[in-house]
Formats: sequence, structure tokens, C-alpha cells
Amino acid sequence: MKESERHLRVLAASIPQMLWTATPEGQLNYLSDQGLRYLGIGEELLYGEKWLNAVHPDDRESAIRSWTHAIATSTPYETSYRLRRFDGTWRWHLVRGVPVVGDDAKVSQWYGTCTDIEDQKQAETLMQQDRQRWQELLQRAPAAIAIFHGPAHIFEWVNSDFVRMVGRSDAAKLLGKPAREGLPELVAQGYIDLLDRVFAAGQPHAEQEAPVLLGEGGDAHEAYVNFVCMPTRDTQGRVDGNFVHATDVSDLVKARKQVEESERQFRTLAETIPHLAWMAHADGFIFWYNQRWYDYTGTTLESVKGRNWETLHDPDVLPRVLDQWKLSLASGKPFDMIFPLKGANGEFRTFLTRVEPVKDNGGRVVRWFGTNTDVTEQKRTEEELRRANRDLEEFTYVASHDLQEPLRMVSIYTQLMMKTLGEPEGNLGKYAAVVRQNVARMETLIHDLLKFSRTVHDDRSSSSEPLSTADLAAALAEATTVLKSRIEEVGAVIRAPSSWPVVRGDTDQLAHVFQNLVSNALKYSRPGTKPEIHICAHSDGVQCTISVEDNGIGFEQQHAESIFGLFKRLHRRDAYAGTGLGLAICKRIVERAGGKIWAEGRPDQGSTFYLSLPLAG
Ligand code: ADP
Repeated sequence: MKESERHLRVLAASIPQMLWTATPEGQLNYLSDQGLRYLGIGEELLYGEKWLNAVHPDDRESAIRSWTHAIATSTPYETSYRLRRFDGTWRWHLVRGVPVVGDDAKVSQWYGTCTDIEDQKQAETLMQQDRQRWQELLQRAPAAIAIFHGPAHIFEWVNSDFVRMVGRSDAAKLLGKPAREGLPELVAQGYIDLLDRVFAAGQPHAEQEAPVLLGEGGDAHEAYVNFVCMPTRDTQGRVDGNFVHATDVSDLVKARKQVEESERQFRTLAETIPHLAWMAHADGFIFWYNQRWYDYTGTTLESVKGRNWETLHDPDVLPRVLDQWKLSLASGKPFDMIFPLKGANGEFRTFLTRVEPVKDNGGRVVRWFGTNTDVTEQKRTEEELRRANRDLEEFTYVASHDLQEPLRMVSIYTQLMMKTLGEPEGNLGKYAAVVRQNVARMETLIHDLLKFSRTVHDDRSSSSEPLSTADLAAALAEATTVLKSRIEEVGAVIRAPSSWPVVRGDTDQLAHVFQNLVSNALKYSRPGTKPEIHICAHSDGVQCTISVEDNGIGFEQQHAESIFGLFKRLHRRDAYAGTGLGLAICKRIVERAGGKIWAEGRPDQGSTFYLSLPLAG
């Protein structure tokens, strides 16, 4: 054995790989002992070209191709293929060969090794699978994730949420690029510096609701992001990149900012209004007052929070306030009441208090919003007005009463004068007729005025007496008796209910109401049409509603309210006689009985007057 060959065998025994040699033409002519042991076959089955028998059939073609190429070009060769081990398992090998060139510049021999890389290959596959798995996980994670490599923060990996969040169409626009180039808009906002700092310090950094402008050029949009930036480390523990995990919380932050803004606007408004204002929880616990409340009451939130506001009430009125407030809290209905509140100076002023429930989408009360409006002056003015009105009504009563007598004198003495003059003809007779006519008008006016002021007068003198029950059938009978001749004269038809509910009120006064309504129905009839008056009564268990409907000239609905005013008339006196007091008297009587009166009119079709009166008992 040549010395060089012995050396080779010693070397072959000392290295873990298989060692082989081949002829310049590529015929295998030597395989180390461990190679033979490893493959578990004899030389005779390997040498020459038979070595291919040990190669996995799927890898043979490429094995031959690269070997042929190496021989043809006399260049070192490196490839990998599977070899069958003695136990029949296929294992990957890294196969390397180098040509030995002799003095004649020709290849004299090939030397090579086969290294079992199966374990390494498997580890690599596992790592690959592992990598694929965590990438899939990160891809599906409900967050935007990016992995940067090195101090330049090269985009190594991003998930689709990240691409979407930064307003890019495709991950390819980022991958492989330094962060500064991939997301240039972040440079001026200081976020790349932040990556630098985390990389340099090796310390994670987290921010909540960080404002950031994302997207390119005109597509830039403002977002709010919760993010963590963490340094990543290599196997030696050195920082080798950054891991960024971000959640876009723009919608949440924007919605909250909107709520904060409207809350701020509301508070500004509540502080600007000239009323005392406050807010309570659904259970009535007051948790906020505006500054005007504190200014007026001289209190602090601590001293009046919850229900301590009760100390600012008049103890005599408080129980009523509490009763009504509890009713509102239980029913969720608005609260509306006038009561006094004590000021910082110890004096009470009168406030109109309105409390509205604030409800959620499901209709549940979530808050109460209350205002107290100082109506002291208004109440005083109202009281003064009432007093002035009362004085005026008293005066009307006295004046109309006292005017009757002198007017009767004028009438009597005019008649006497005419009689004495022997009922003269010509101008004197005409003048006397004008005097008589005007005296008659004056008498009607005074009569109506007296009737009106009498209801006021009676009202006042008997205000403490509770109203007794009224007999509506009797009241209508009385009215039609008074109007009997007029009804017969025009041939009017009156239809009335056969039975009536019993209401609270005064029969005589309601007779007066009927008389006014029926006489109007007769008076405001259409020329050539026989008046038909239809009276109905309907009870709902609490109220009785009476309607008096006619087929007369009617009126425009817009006047339906004004005709109940004093001296209010829609027609000229020369067309229809009257004083404009009838309906005012009716209103007075009905309201005194705790009822209401209203009307509906249709021009040229008729009108209907309604009274609603509380039922007796
Ligand atoms: P008067 O009849 O003396 O004018 P009222 O107070 O009774 O006064 O009525 C006020 C006005 O209402 C009348 O002038 C008339 O224009 C209108 N009015 C009242 N009743 C009727 C009715 N039944 N149909 C049409 N208009 C009516």
C-alpha cells in the first residue's frame, strides 16, 4: 500500500464523515470503512457507477447531473441527496468533492466526503414548521404586528392588519425596506427614533392611545393606537431587532372624545343658562349642580349632594314636593312644580322646577336633568294683574249695576216726553226713535255685562263652598223654555239625549250656558236653512263631554279660541245683534265648575261647541 494511501485511510478513520475517492472519469474507487459500514454494503456493490444504488431513486437524476457537471468542468462539487443507511432508512447527506490536479494540469483523482445532515435537516424542517406556525398565529392575531431586523429596522415580517393599519395596499411595499423608507410619514412623528431607542436600550416601550398620522400623502388619516415595542434578541442574547404589536383604537377614542365634547358642550350650556340646573342618577341621587345653584343657595356639592337639598325647602311644602318627586322617579315621567327655595341670604324665592328624564335606547331612565327657574317676579306680576282684574271686575259689576237706574230714567222720560208732545212726526220723531234704539242696545249691553260680572261676583263670594251636582236635563229644559218662542218662530229642531250623566256644577248657571249656546245656534243660522241643533253627552267615567252642534254659518277654525274672549265677535252688529259677552260668560261658568269649553267651526257648514265637566261623586 502506498504511503499516501495509508495516510488517507488513517485520516478517513479519524473523521466522522465518509471519505471517498473517484477516478478522473468519475468512477468511485474507494469508500472509507465507516462509509461501507454506514451503508452496510460491500465495495463490489458500490464502486464504479454502482454507488448510485445507494442514492434515493428520486435524487439520482440531480446527483448524476451535478457530478457530471463537476467532472466536465473539473470544478469542486457540492450537492445533497439521500443515501440508504444499513438499516434501510434514507438520510440526507451533504456530498462534496474536489479534483486533484496533477503536474500535467489534468485531474488525477477526486477526493470527497459525505456528511450525514439528516438531523440538521430535520431540525431545519421543524424550525421551518415552527416559523410557519407562529407566523400564521401572528397573522391571525387581532392586532397589527411587525418584526424589524437590525439597527436600520428592516421590515422582516408584517401581518395583514399592520399593512391595513398603515394604509398600504400590500406587504411587499414594506418587506425588506428600512422602516424609515417603508413608513416615511413616521419619521417626523418621532416613531422611528422610538425604534432606535428601544433597539439601543434593549428595553420595551408601551403607549396608550398614541395619536399617529398614518398613510401616504393625501390618504393620510389620523389614528389612535395602543402599542408595545419590544426588542428581540439573538441566541447570544444580543438585541437584533424590534417587535411591534399595535391595536387601532381610533373608533373608541373618537367616540369617547365625541362624548367628552358633547358633555363639555352640555356643561358649558348648563353653566350659561340663567337657571339653576342639576343632574341626578336614575334613583334621584343628585350628583351635579351648576354654578348658579351654588351662587343662589350658598351651598357646596358636599353639603347638598344626594338628598340634602331638602334643607333648602319650606318645611310646609316639602312633603308635597317629595310626593310628586317620588311619583316621577317611579313612573319615569317629567316633574313640573312651583315651590320656594331658600337662598344664601335665608330668604325664600319662588321657583318653577322642571325635571326631564334622560332615557337610553331601551327607554330606561339613566339620568334626570332638572332646572329651577326663579319666577318670583312673574308670580308677583301675575298676582298684581289678578288683583287689578278683580278690581276691574268689581268695578264693572258696580258700574253696570248702577248704570241700569239712570238708563231706565232716560228711557222712561223719553217716552214721557214723546207722549207729552203727542208722538210728533218728522225729525223729532226720528230723533226719538234713535234715542229709543240706543237705549235698548245699552240695556242689552248692561244686562250682559251684569250677567258676566255677576258670575265673577258670585264666584268670589262663594269660592269656599264646594260645587254641588247639576241636573243637565233640567238646565237644558230651562234654557229651551226661555228660548221657546224664538225656537218656534224659526222652526228649529233640537235633538237632545234622553238621559244625562250627573256632573258637578250649578244647574241654573249651566242653564245659562245652554241658553247662550242654543241662542247662538239659532242666531248664526244660515239664511233659508232651518236650524237643526244636535246635543250629545258622553261620559268616560271621569268627565262628561257635551257637544252642541248646529248647521249654521260656522266660522274659520282659527277663531275657535278668540270667540271666548270678552267682547270678541266675528260679525258686524248690523248683520247679527249681540255684545260678544255670551261665550265669555259660558267659559267663566264652565271653568268655575272645573271644566273646559272649546269649539270647532266649519265656514258655511256649522259649528260645534264642546263642554267637558267633571262627573259628580
Ligand atoms: P254674541 O253672540 O253676542 O256676538 P258670543 O260671545 O255669544 O257673542 O259669541 C261670540 C262670537 O262667536 C259671535 O259674535 C259669533 O261671531 C261667533 N259665534 C258664536 N256662536 C256661533 C255659532 N253657533 N255659529 C257661528 N258663529 C258663532
